[in-house]
Amino acid sequence: MNPLDTPSLKPIRVRLKPVAESIVRRGHPWVFAESLREQSREGVSGDLAVIFDRRDKFLGAGLYDADSPLRIRVAHVGKPTALDGAFWRGRILASFQRREGLFGDDTNGFRLINGESDGLPGLVLDRYDTTLVLKLYTSAWLPHLPTVIAALRESCPASGVVLRLARNLKEIARARAGLEDGKTIVEGQARTEAVETVVFRENGLLFHADVRRGQKTGFFLDQRENRQRVERLSAGRDVLNCFSFSGGFSLYAARGGARSVTDVDISEHALRSARENFRLNCGEAAVAKARHVTVLANVFDWLNGEAAGHFGIVVIDPPSLARKAVDREGALKAYRQVFSAGIRRVASGGILVAASCSAHVRAEEFYQLVRDEALRSGRRFRELERSAHAADHPASFAEAEYLKAMFLTFD
Ligand code: SAH
Repeated sequence: MNPLDTPSLKPIRVRLKPVAESIVRRGHPWVFAESLREQSREGVSGDLAVIFDRRDKFLGAGLYDADSPLRIRVAHVGKPTALDGAFWRGRILASFQRREGLFGDDTNGFRLINGESDGLPGLVLDRYDTTLVLKLYTSAWLPHLPTVIAALRESCPASGVVLRLARNLKEIARARAGLEDGKTIVEGQARTEAVETVVFRENGLLFHADVRRGQKTGFFLDQRENRQRVERLSAGRDVLNCFSFSGGFSLYAARGGARSVTDVDISEHALRSARENFRLNCGEAAVAKARHVTVLANVFDWLNGEAAGHFGIVVIDPPSLARKAVDREGALKAYRQVFSAGIRRVASGGILVAASCSAHVRAEEFYQLVRDEALRSGRRFRELERSAHAADHPASFAEAEYLKAMFLTFD
């Protein structure tokens, strides 16, 4: 680390513009650069920022990020508190305790820390069997990594911890701390080599997670409960899984008794891992029996093509179509297109599962959009279910509520 960039032990004192002050007081964890009214000095990433209100009273504290317009990630609001090692350790332990009893032995892959919503802003920790994957979304954590790692070592006997970095952090982490995305930063006693892919269990099914290079932390753990819903609906049906990735929904459909499962994805790597995941679970009679087809294609084109046919269940779980607020309009249009094309592929008596992981498209707006497309299809339909965040992915503020899904059945 460049010594000039070492965070100071002396916190930086800041004051906010009135609107931001009220928002933070109500518990929102983000302060953008334009909301800062004054600060006691220039900050560097990782500095502790103490926020004082307009009466000069302690309002809250967080981590300062000089590299991002999202300048302060607030971790605490209320009584004056020092954000020291013991504070972070307490937050990590509390987060682990919140998951106790959520999952049985047949699930050893789940989220242990969900960033802001678990009081550790910009920090995510996923568990895949005995491997932990730590993903950072702000450079403010880089100087505090030793504290985080010490707390993890103490509280969780992992065989390895893999570090993953958000896209905009890769360069910064390399330059400042010599840290690479996908690097094993803690090796357990039982393991000396770096972690590659990991096999873990989700509701008794086995999956590979590409923890070093895969999207997110290697798997989409957030869809677990929606996959279970699909499993319960799949018996005797032909199931289409659009944007299938490594076949998460597909394996559940197969175990639920689907006659066939068709995976469509634009990435050969994703389809290969879906085939591997089917192989991993061939000991399960229903999985071995289901016909598994993989199609390398752009979903938007394929759904409108001749080859598609009709399915008893159509799952459409696209990648985040709006990464930034400015992408919203384009994303809404793409959702409309893909859902209306998907509805045309739902057989009579069949089900559409429409999901969205774009935080910039809010839940109500999304549900309305899906219902609009269902109405436009001219078919009679009935809504079966709506779902949002699972217990290991809590969302404590609006921007964290990214996941939503709707299940509809069509005559
Ligand atoms: N439903 C998955 C997660 C989807 S991730 C699960 O539950 O695990 C998004 C996937 O969409 C990625 O695998 C990516 O390769 C794929 N993808 C992105 N754009 C696509 C397109 N236009 N057509 C087909 N697949 C696409």
